[in-house]
Amino acid sequence: MPDVHARRRAALREALGEADAALVTRLVNVRYLTGFTGSNGALLVTRDAEVLATDGRYIEQSKRQAPDVERAIVGAPATALAERAKNDGVTSLAFESHDVTVDLFEALGRVGPSLTRLKRAVESLRAVKDDEEIALLREACAVADRAFARLLPSLRPGRTEKEVGRELEALMLEEGGDGPSFETIVASGPNSAVPHHRPTERVLEAGEFVKLDFGALYRGYHSDMTRTVVLGKAADWQREVYALVASAQAAGRAALGVGAVAGDVDKAARDVIDAAGHGDDYTHSLGHGVGLEIHEAPTLRVGATDTLADRTPVTVEPGVYLAGRGGVRIEDTLVVRAGADPELLTTTTKDLLEL
Ligand code: ZN
Ligand code: ZN
Repeated sequence: MPDVHARRRAALREALGEADAALVTRLVNVRYLTGFTGSNGALLVTRDAEVLATDGRYIEQSKRQAPDVERAIVGAPATALAERAKNDGVTSLAFESHDVTVDLFEALGRVGPSLTRLKRAVESLRAVKDDEEIALLREACAVADRAFARLLPSLRPGRTEKEVGRELEALMLEEGGDGPSFETIVASGPNSAVPHHRPTERVLEAGEFVKLDFGALYRGYHSDMTRTVVLGKAADWQREVYALVASAQAAGRAALGVGAVAGDVDKAARDVIDAAGHGDDYTHSLGHGVGLEIHEAPTLRVGATDTLADRTPVTVEPGVYLAGRGGVRIEDTLVVRAGADPELLTTTTKDLLEL
């Protein structure tokens, strides 16, 4: 997809402002701008040159993945590119200050052009997806949906959280995923009250909540969804908590739209939980962007002032966690669309499943 990457580099050039070149060192950003997926590399974008530097292990791979940029094979990509920038007459080089180490920063300073912050310019570009990216996210989510449907019959008392997690991850691979997009969360009974519980040897018991937060990686793109089920018949308190979280989640989804303020979307869901007296049991933000990374811009959290743009995927994932008893989170990934309702990518039912 060379044209896609060229378009993205052109957008970065537009975002340069006062600087006359950008040095991109975050590998995920290098990938976004070139297609190169190696574990060492950096990209220089000047007004009239685009140079990808990597080391000798990636001669062939860089040629194949990034055929439309100049390539340099060097030992230390970032400093080599800073030298190149100086030799090309760059006077102000914007670098990713949120990524570089102090050592690299000092090395860049010794080499040459005066340094300025690129800030999170590439991350900002990445928040809005192009059609190719949305198609990959759609499939990543579909993989997770299919795997979850296949998991349900074996989600039974007697199995451990770890067993269930491993089975779900195996099913995502069978369904075409390249791997889990993060460590699968399987949280049963009281563990479901821990928002980011890691699976243990705990045995699932009848009558408990089981909260599963998982996603598939598909050609670099991450899906993210959470469903909470009950093993057997739900008790009244479980029904109540589930209904509360489901209505908060629906309110959050309804608040999505082009121009919506991220903090207002968070508030739409949070108000529902607050009004029910459970504000203190909801301890995290509502959602986040998703793409080449599992957590990306924008963040839907209290007070966030950024506005949502067309073709921005975000998760909507409120939860209520009752310490010692259990908790519920329901999470979807949706794409904000201009002139239309958000596109729901995670299509598994949100009705309370009593297994
Ligand atoms: Zn999640
Ligand atoms: Zn999430």
